[in-house]
Amino acid sequence: MIFCDLHRQYREYKHEIDAAIASVIAETAFINGPDIQALEGELAAYANVPHALTCSSGSDAISLALMALDIKSGDEVICPAFTFIATASMVSIVGARPVFADVDPVTFNLDPEKIEAKITPRTKGIIPVSLYGQPADMDAINAIAARHGLWVMEDAAQSFGASYKGKRSCALSRIATSSFFPAKPLGCYGDGGALFTDDPVLAEKIRMIRNHGQVKRYYHKMVGVNGRMDTLQAAILRVKLRHFDREIDERNRVAETYSQALKGVVDIPTVLAHNRSVWAQYTIRTQDRDALREALAAKDIPTAVHYPMPLPSQEAFADLGQGTDFPVSNRLSETVVSLPMHPFLSSEEIHYVADTIKETIHG
Ligand SMILES: *Cc1c(COP(=O)(O)O)cnc(C)c1O
Repeated sequence: MIFCDLHRQYREYKHEIDAAIASVIAETAFINGPDIQALEGELAAYANVPHALTCSSGSDAISLALMALDIKSGDEVICPAFTFIATASMVSIVGARPVFADVDPVTFNLDPEKIEAKITPRTKGIIPVSLYGQPADMDAINAIAARHGLWVMEDAAQSFGASYKGKRSCALSRIATSSFFPAKPLGCYGDGGALFTDDPVLAEKIRMIRNHGQVKRYYHKMVGVNGRMDTLQAAILRVKLRHFDREIDERNRVAETYSQALKGVVDIPTVLAHNRSVWAQYTIRTQDRDALREALAAKDIPTAVHYPMPLPSQEAFADLGQGTDFPVSNRLSETVVSLPMHPFLSSEEIHYVADTIKETIHG
């Protein structure tokens, strides 16, 4: 069994994807080709946000956003303690300080109750992550930010396509970033990312920064980086975006089947009533995680741990000295395990995984 079966997906859309790739090559439209602008229009329409900008990765999307927001040395940005490192390392990369707050025990997303204690006069913004595909509590977080004059940036690397109270992820804050890493719900064939905002001034600034601050060829208004997406990736994403709604339905089918089969056996994920998840991961919790993973591996069932160590405990952040008082994040990092998840999992495969888990746990 494969954890995230991209082969099957490619076989489904092969004719369309091969044609899209061939067309970019035939036109040698490798950088800033017509698919880039077309994809940006389609992403903006999909998320229902005025401006979508493609870029080189989900990590670069975060750093481009921070640069456009003028975040620099001396600034602080609040991040969840339990997420992929890029959420916080991009804050460090622009010279600022990530300040960690603990997550909610039900959704595993940034806990709004834990934010205000972390705000100081140096705090500039908050980066909630919509982890595993379920949006964070954006209304509560936006309200806290508004009270303190901070911006909010949703790290939607795992949640593009999800919704919160009827609105799409990426449309829930001043700015949002996403990733098209191959194994994300909407993935390309390499690295890629995007930024979303309703602010035209910010959008223009990001467009400039991602292309060396260039206003016209070899005239540079500001210092920037090369943060562009390849046209090949945009062409592939345009094909996949056409199938994305159906894939999201399938991911929800897989998750519901897992949950029905595993209820009462392990701690299954909870999606709040106002949320729809895109199930970037289907992540259960169990006390004896390592034994379970070994038993599943012996039956050819791959699993993964997202994530085995909370960010404040990472060596990379040792100099921040933020301690280990993040009880929910600490407990999650010891108990979470993600099961195979992709839109093409058959009912038989899902039940094979669930039955193997039941046998292992009940003996
Ligand atoms: C994947 C991911 C990123 C980084 O995206 P890349 O495209 O791999 O750079 C950032 N934040 C979260 C939460 C992610 O899952």
